[in-house]
Amino acid sequence: MNQPARPAADRCPGVFDTHPAADGALARVRLPGGRIRPDQLELLARAAAEHADGHLELTVRGNLQVRGITDVEAVAEAVVAAGLAPSSTHDKVRNIELSPLTGRIGGIADARPLAAALDDALRADPAAASLSGRFLFGIDDGRGDIAARRPDACAVIRAGSSVATDPPLTADTPLVADIVIGGVPVGSATGSEAIVRALIAVAAGLREVAPGAWRVRDLDADSRHRLADLAASSLDPVIGDDPDAAPDVTREPLVGWFDQDDGAVLLGAVVELGRLAARLAEFIAAVQAPVVFTPDREILLCDLDEGVAETVVRVLAPMGLIFDAASPWASVSCCVGAPGCSSAHAPVRDDLMARVQDGDPVDEREHWVGCARGCGSPAGSHLSVQATPEGGYERRRR
Ligand code: SF4
Repeated sequence: MNQPARPAADRCPGVFDTHPAADGALARVRLPGGRIRPDQLELLARAAAEHADGHLELTVRGNLQVRGITDVEAVAEAVVAAGLAPSSTHDKVRNIELSPLTGRIGGIADARPLAAALDDALRADPAAASLSGRFLFGIDDGRGDIAARRPDACAVIRAGSSVATDPPLTADTPLVADIVIGGVPVGSATGSEAIVRALIAVAAGLREVAPGAWRVRDLDADSRHRLADLAASSLDPVIGDDPDAAPDVTREPLVGWFDQDDGAVLLGAVVELGRLAARLAEFIAAVQAPVVFTPDREILLCDLDEGVAETVVRVLAPMGLIFDAASPWASVSCCVGAPGCSSAHAPVRDDLMARVQDGDPVDEREHWVGCARGCGSPAGSHLSVQATPEGGYERRRR
């Protein structure tokens, strides 16, 4: 059965192919797994300060956006110099979500190397360049946080029957993962190479069964089955006990002080409106610690010793980094709205700021948007607050 036609190309922005927003050019910088080194963050922050609106915008996939760009070339040069755009042809397809705490707190195994291997393999595959910028890969370290977001192609690390989990996995233990397509497990693979190959094969399969489709969710039932059969043909049986169980992605915010498994400290924070001021980003970079941006727009400063962590909280909290999980900003988010977006029916940022300042309690996850497109909506259940053409907002639970 043929799929409904999508436009020939999606308009997802990248570093080299910016989006002409109402407030200037917008570039999206992909951070596979949300990970960024301090030196990279510093270069990006400086570019945002010198050639854009002075902020880094946190996205719902753990990426960063630079908006209001006045010199597109200068920003692209800075991103390339930082090593954050290693391929001009594959820039927009490096969409990889990774369990944010992996390798530091919990999880069956450290999935960071797997995400890096997937990024390498993606960039080495010429055919992958034609993948939609909306196609999403996921690497879940077994805790279920990324699988619950239903990426298009997800590897969920399992404690397979042949793999001992007590004692915990070692670096030498081959990883075993279920391969999950659009939320449905189709088989398993053993070893990093096989897992990466299986994920790339899902993307290739999508091109085969529905050329032009952006995401698995665009497929009709028949095409989904064909894609699953195609992928399963080279996989072992599914390992997960309850393959169809996908817990709600809603979870406690990763905000505050957390003890890592190795005794170091991890600090989680949010910023107002999901906008990280370039100056604050430079201070975060100066901590010289690995940083992770999560798909829930949190900022994790990792591998800190206690003294450094205490200093970070003391210095950066007054600058706008929010370490309080009870803050409304840990539970609300929004799109840019007017005047930054020409489709917006309302100044969403201003309205959300007023809502928070009013002090009304935030009892559930809220996402405010300026129109029906619902940009940046959380993957989990939430209250959608959508501006209407008639004025005002419509509230709907999603
Ligand atoms: S949801 Fe609508 S108003 Fe908001 S950024 Fe997207 S297109 Fe613009």
